[in-house]
Amino acid sequence: MSSSKITSKIPEGNLEQKWSKYRSTVPLVNPANKRSIEIIVVGSGLAGASAASTLAELGYKVKVFCFQDSARRAHSIAAQGGINAAKNYQNDGDSVYRLFYDTIKGGDYRAREANVYRLAEVSTNIIDQSVASGVPFAREYGGLLSNRSFGGTQVQRTFYAAGQTGQQLLLGAYSGLQRQVGMGAVQMFARHEMLDVVNIDGVCRGIIARDLVSGKLERHFGHAVLLCTGGYGNVFFLSTNAMGSNVTAAWKAHKKGAMFANPCFTQIHPTCIPVSGDHQSKLTLMSESLRNDGRIWVPKRKEDAEAIRAGKLNPNQLKEEERDYYLERRYPAFGNLVPRDVASRAAKERCDAGFGVNKTGEAVYLDFAFNMKYKYGKIEATKKGISNPTEEQLKSLGHEVIKEKYGNLFDMYQQITGVNPYENPMMIYPAVHYTMGGLWVDYNLMTTVPGLYALGEANFSDHGANRLGASALMQGLADGYFVIPYTIGAYLNNEIRTKAISTDHEAFVAAEKAVQDRIDRFLSIKGSKSVDYFHKKLGKIMWDNCGMARNETGLKEAIEAIKALRNEFWNDVRVPGAANELNPELEKAGRVADFLELGELMCLDALKRNESCGGHFREEYQTEEGEALRDDENFKYVAAWEMLELGNWELNKEDLIYDNIKIAQRSYK
Ligand SMILES: Cc1cc2nc3c(=O)[nH]c(=O)nc-3n(C[C@H](O)[C@H](O)[C@H](O)COP(=O)(O)OP(=O)(O)OC[C@H]3O[C@@H](n4cnc5c(N)ncnc54)[C@H](O)[C@@H]3O)c2cc1C
Repeated sequence: MSSSKITSKIPEGNLEQKWSKYRSTVPLVNPANKRSIEIIVVGSGLAGASAASTLAELGYKVKVFCFQDSARRAHSIAAQGGINAAKNYQNDGDSVYRLFYDTIKGGDYRAREANVYRLAEVSTNIIDQSVASGVPFAREYGGLLSNRSFGGTQVQRTFYAAGQTGQQLLLGAYSGLQRQVGMGAVQMFARHEMLDVVNIDGVCRGIIARDLVSGKLERHFGHAVLLCTGGYGNVFFLSTNAMGSNVTAAWKAHKKGAMFANPCFTQIHPTCIPVSGDHQSKLTLMSESLRNDGRIWVPKRKEDAEAIRAGKLNPNQLKEEERDYYLERRYPAFGNLVPRDVASRAAKERCDAGFGVNKTGEAVYLDFAFNMKYKYGKIEATKKGISNPTEEQLKSLGHEVIKEKYGNLFDMYQQITGVNPYENPMMIYPAVHYTMGGLWVDYNLMTTVPGLYALGEANFSDHGANRLGASALMQGLADGYFVIPYTIGAYLNNEIRTKAISTDHEAFVAAEKAVQDRIDRFLSIKGSKSVDYFHKKLGKIMWDNCGMARNETGLKEAIEAIKALRNEFWNDVRVPGAANELNPELEKAGRVADFLELGELMCLDALKRNESCGGHFREEYQTEEGEALRDDENFKYVAAWEMLELGNWELNKEDLIYDNIKIAQRSYK
């Protein structure tokens, strides 16, 4: 039984008809009334920019906030590999149902059927919308849009723009947003950080934001507030996320009543450039699209791994039979294209067993040599009529194709590592990448606070315990372009008589004062340690105990360690500068203070989920072959946490019901 405090509001009816029927019957707001309704959108990444421009186009008055200097710099810009859609352009058996099925299975049966089906349905519209807004997706020679493979699927459904898909999609969404800014329908507040939500009589009515340049606090009213504020992977300090990505907006909402769902569901991406030392503040992703053509391996013999680590052996010297293509060996059906959680754990397993190939022993190879020569080289040779190409010819012909497909990623790898990946296999290792957890939302994307919504990575909604590659961009744009414009009507049609509330209202005054007090407190501590010192320490606690593998003892210790660290932070952090100026250290202090609270909830969530599923791998719960072992009888639910006070949370369960999919032990063999 689901908790009575949460209602998912999933429409009745057949899975295939739920969304089309719902959006045809959801109450509407007439155009005249829309003009007097104000909507605040916090965040201008793919979710925020698409939502804001669409809502403005519909006639609402929209205010958009982001902490970067331009909406165009949201973290979405970093996305490399691609975006999924069930277009079946390859005629390889794809369909809406298959995308739905792959996503539910990929998420290890911990996502809602109705949401995921809707996502798969609207995926096709996203591609059309993006093409119409000028996104230069890669095309085949004949002009049709091209596709590539991503993990967890056996079809090619990933649309891409070289290795810059996020950037191009964001430019598309941004141009739509700027059009509305130009027409006065959207008011843009760049370099503003939302530091609290304002609730009046249990309903969200606005936000408190800080102008990051002047330091001035501002109050803003909205009939509805949409948090499109991205994920919280930076709680681990080292992650592939942009340095600025943080949990503050979602966390403030949580502290004001919005439940936080599945906080421990973190995605560790298998193909990142390995950590090279403790001087780093960020990790770099090598896109999953590379697994399309790269083969992952480590040496078969430990002596070879040791020799490679000692710099005495070059990997290119190892013959085929001396290499262990462990994903192809363990998972013949999906091979290198198993989902991320599976690939990450398999890399860790090999490295823990002593087969790692870099100095720290925490790296495996991602090698393009085979496909460069024998896939692309051969095709090119045939096209050019070269009947008996030499190995060198094959390599050079294939090189051009690989360069065309992945050139910017290869350049990036070489710039960071100094190693030429066309000549040597890349070294990769798993790193924190994405957070499936987030604010709990119902089918309408509304949190447990009426009027407060969460979209994109900020919500928990569609990916269960593991997100399939190329599906975050899909979800962010689905939420913004195609879901919220309809579902928000269900709420706003009751708001047409609500006049704009003055920001002199006592709730705004009190919220602003609380924000100011906290800023003053940061500046008054004048301790001896930098904000980064605490962030790094927190990150290590999280990675060691709530990262790729978790266990009861470690999680209990982590909770205590985080509490102690939080205490130390509030007594000994040093935040230089002043409140009324541009002060990046002050910004960081606020974000790290929130991470120090979130970390505790993540460990608690991981501790209470006595099973393994997707990215949540509890060492106590695994099959004999080391795969995640779910416990559907006891844990087939969304964990929605309500904060009673800091350190005291109540667990609310939303049962997951599978009427259209037979749930089974996940297998990619
Ligand atoms: C390196 C990398 C590569 C990736 N590649 C892919 C890929 O190929 N395919 C795929 O599907 N997914 C990919 N992802 C995941 C995907 O990029 C993200 O999940 C997605 O872009 C998130 O979009 P969003 O709109 O939810 O949030 P974001 O793009 O993170 O935007 C957040 C917005 O919120 C604003 N904000 C946050 N907090 C506040 C605050 N307190 N006040 C004011 N503004 C605030 C920010 O300024 C920003 O505008 C990748 C992720 C990474 C890290």
